[in-house]
Amino acid sequence: DVHDIGKNIVGVVLQCNNYEVIDLGVMVPADKILAAAKEHQVDIIGVSGLITPSLDEMVHVAKELQREGFEIPLMIGGATTSKAHTAVKIEPQYQNALTVYVTDASRSVSVATALLSDTQKADFAQSIREEYAVVRERRKNRSAQKDMLSYSDACANATPIDWQGYQAPKPTFSGVKVFEDYPLEELVPYIDWTPFFITWDLAGKYPKILQDEVVGEQARSLFDDAQRLLKQLIQERTLKARGVIGFWPANRSAPDELSLFKDESRTEPLCKLQHLRQQERKAEGIANASLADFVAPLETGVSDYVGGFAVTAGIGAEELAKAYEAAHDDYNSIMVKALADRLAEAFAERMHERVRQEFWGYAADEKLDNESLIKEQYRGIRPAPGYPACPDHTEKAVLFELLDAGKNAGMELTEHFAMTPAASVSGFYFAHPQARYFSVGKISKDQVEDYAQRKGMDIAETERWLSPVLNYDA
Ligand code: SAH
Repeated sequence: DVHDIGKNIVGVVLQCNNYEVIDLGVMVPADKILAAAKEHQVDIIGVSGLITPSLDEMVHVAKELQREGFEIPLMIGGATTSKAHTAVKIEPQYQNALTVYVTDASRSVSVATALLSDTQKADFAQSIREEYAVVRERRKNRSAQKDMLSYSDACANATPIDWQGYQAPKPTFSGVKVFEDYPLEELVPYIDWTPFFITWDLAGKYPKILQDEVVGEQARSLFDDAQRLLKQLIQERTLKARGVIGFWPANRSAPDELSLFKDESRTEPLCKLQHLRQQERKAEGIANASLADFVAPLETGVSDYVGGFAVTAGIGAEELAKAYEAAHDDYNSIMVKALADRLAEAFAERMHERVRQEFWGYAADEKLDNESLIKEQYRGIRPAPGYPACPDHTEKAVLFELLDAGKNAGMELTEHFAMTPAASVSGFYFAHPQARYFSVGKISKDQVEDYAQRKGMDIAETERWLSPVLNYDA
């Protein structure tokens, strides 16, 4: 039974033992969650976070629940959440009722049962509260020990790259190139199947997992079903892949800033990409890295470039998954989404390969099998905003505008910078041989202030978007 409970929100009401579940959808802000909780008689509120901006919204949900005097328990789940985040950031905000982190769906039934049981409720709440207090205490001791550099000292310890005599490869075009309706069959050999099994909560590396003593049989059966559906999706053309890539003349214009230019004359600015730098003290001889380090500084005179991409294999996936759901076929609904995710990642992999071989062309002779591609045994990287080397999701807005990803690839950003369709991947291309992935880790206030100024964003908002990487309480 589908209830329309407000603009852009469709609540799917399921029968689950004797409970009804109201599903509000993706990236629902706190005010809508509270409104739905008021309108319906709700026993438990559950929130799930897929990307880091939702972590902060969860804190806001807890604060609002407290402010409005709710007494409904709050369950926290999803890929980016953790017991530590729940204990440190969310639980202290909401004292009227219990907030509890739930590792995965398999635990949710027993937790929900405990939360609603007259006999278990009190003991359960007390043990969770005590556990979280311990987690907070441990965290406090740990973060106090973090040895941070000043932002300027961190900048002074940037990745040492010898730009003298460096010949930056020149891409074969400048601006964007659009791929309408990219052939899915070309992407299939590039699929990394290991994460597919993780989606289904089966741990193990592909293809070894197929022979695993414990989960092998289940893995084989899932894999066979996936192959069948994949074939069907490709033949019937129900899924569509679209993408756009681009290259721009670029130079580093400040320690953590890249300036992109309209053309090779490098006189007219196009836009700026802002980056963050590792600020924790490193061992002797180890740099404090920033992605900006991998592009030649203006004063070197090297004509360098930066690339970007946005690809999706999710066009049609949502509709198809919904159709399966409507037919009470949750298995194939999840399977479609899992396959669309796999194809989107494969598309990113294949496109990156074509970039190295053809479009940027600095590795024309590269020949790697899929395993070597997965192990990233090639020159250059494709870091994705929201991931550890560039944890700020808001930079996706700059990337999407550069690529005109809405018009060129049918991809949009939500107000929290999640990509739609869900089966999408976007990121930057860096070609320097020393370019590598790393994690920015925690940063201090002096860097946040500099970053806020470069982004033209006020400090409070910057701190909100960067809250997962702050080394201090904003
Ligand atoms: N084979 C995987 C896809 C690769 S995931 C699959 O099919 O799911 C690896 C990608 O994640 C990288 O190409 C990059 O886009 C992103 N990534 C990984 N580590 C990163 C980091 N530290 N910073 C930024 N992006 C990162």
